[in-house]
Amino acid sequence: MVARVIPVEAFDLVIFGGTGDLARRKILPGLFRRFQAGQMPPEARIIGAARAEHSDDEFRALVADAVAEFMPKAAQDKEALAAFLQRLSYVAIDAKGTQGWSQLKETMRSDVVQAYYFSVAPALFGDIALRLTDNGIAGPDARIVVEKPFGRDLASARALNETLAKHFTESQIYRIDHYLGKETVQNLMAVRFANILFEPLWKSEYIDHVQITVAETVGVNGRGAYYDKSGTMRDMVQNHLMQLLCLIAMEPPYHFDPDAVRDEKLKVIRALDPVQPQDIVRGQYLGGGGEGSYLEDSENPHSRTESYIALKVAISNWRWKGTPFYLRTGKRLRARASEIAVTFREPPHSIFDDAEGWRENVLVIRLQPDEGMHLMVMIKEPGPGGMRLTQVPLDMSFATALGPEAAEVPDAYERLIMDVIRGNQTLFMRGDEVEAAWAWTDPIIEGWEARGDRPQPYDAGTSGPEDALMLMHRDGRRWREIK
Ligand code: NAP
Repeated sequence: MVARVIPVEAFDLVIFGGTGDLARRKILPGLFRRFQAGQMPPEARIIGAARAEHSDDEFRALVADAVAEFMPKAAQDKEALAAFLQRLSYVAIDAKGTQGWSQLKETMRSDVVQAYYFSVAPALFGDIALRLTDNGIAGPDARIVVEKPFGRDLASARALNETLAKHFTESQIYRIDHYLGKETVQNLMAVRFANILFEPLWKSEYIDHVQITVAETVGVNGRGAYYDKSGTMRDMVQNHLMQLLCLIAMEPPYHFDPDAVRDEKLKVIRALDPVQPQDIVRGQYLGGGGEGSYLEDSENPHSRTESYIALKVAISNWRWKGTPFYLRTGKRLRARASEIAVTFREPPHSIFDDAEGWRENVLVIRLQPDEGMHLMVMIKEPGPGGMRLTQVPLDMSFATALGPEAAEVPDAYERLIMDVIRGNQTLFMRGDEVEAAWAWTDPIIEGWEARGDRPQPYDAGTSGPEDALMLMHRDGRRWREIK
């Protein structure tokens, strides 16, 4: 099955920080892929903006290098790449000064969609928003895209929301959480709300628990100084894991409409119980095998910042009372794997003698690698020998079900940028959602800071600290293997 590509309207997309790491690794290669897919109309233009002086051609050369580095196969399509590069131009601009703004104003067209991607440090968001409006550059329907981190606590997130709100309305602000752009995450909504099969069972009566895992093999080297001020709770749990939890736990929205979906997610965040200290495990990786420890990578020998978190979360509402959600995420773990596993309860009564062969039904939603889903079900073990039970996966991996082309799903950034151009905010976080997530996160962080808790060391290449295993074992459950 070949994916349908619906072209978007003509646009001018300005990437502030167009020469930075995120633009080079994700945004610009992603735009090239959409161009190759035929989604960009001939009038679409992309304008890089940063302080350094570059000619248009120098910027194009920089983008060509980025495409070659991060999408080597696509870059071999030289004709397409040359045509794409013609859509690009560059403006040298200082977010904090006067340089470049009048040139940007002359460059922008008023009769196409205007989008401004703030791929710069959050400290510059307010300056850019101010200059875009004060200089009369951004039109009334202009969209701005802001990157994470959106604040480091409730107070700073609220301040950032207030700053942006001085210049743009909520319907113009697109707060990116790239996890929401992943194909499988959206599929989760399709599976839940486009089928009758799951929703009647989607509650604590039938679901024993939910596990959400985001495991990385890399450490923090290269960005250790930044990470050390943040830590896993702020960098991963407050945003990405929280969003995944919301999509699993939310009520069906009345329509697949941005505010209807976000209203339901907000209700979930507000229903989260405070987390007790005994329900959180924080870890910090040790060195070994030629790799540095967290303390070395962060260049802070006394750091108490965590590179791993496991926690048990309870949602106080009718649907979920009694079904814990276990979340874990960390760096330098055994494998790079992200998945959500929904584990169902035992049938009320077993008619089979083979109690040992029985396993719970589990719906596994895999985000990476191998995006897809599978449902673990019990069947009779084939062949003679009586009624012995065995578990098999009902596989819904995209490659098998829809053909290899469908497995080449667009990167999350590609999809999200096209959603900005379409003016669809469904997969972006609303200001109140972000604030509610911080309001839940803040007391957890304040708690361990007040107690002076140290994260537990764990060996690199493992599944994390011992106590994280205990977090599940004491409830008579176990984590799924990270692989
Ligand atoms: P980066 O590599 O440091 O790039 C920063 C960019 O901003 C450069 O193009 C820089 O160019 C420009 N810049 C800096 N000061 C400026 C100013 N005063 N006016 C105009 N442009 C300015 O940063 P990054 O890693 O791409 O990150 C960008 C944003 O994305 C940050 O908010 C970060 O938290 C977020 N983010 C990044 C990643 C990632 O993987 N990199 C992932 C998630 C979120 P000049 O120095 O020439 O001005």
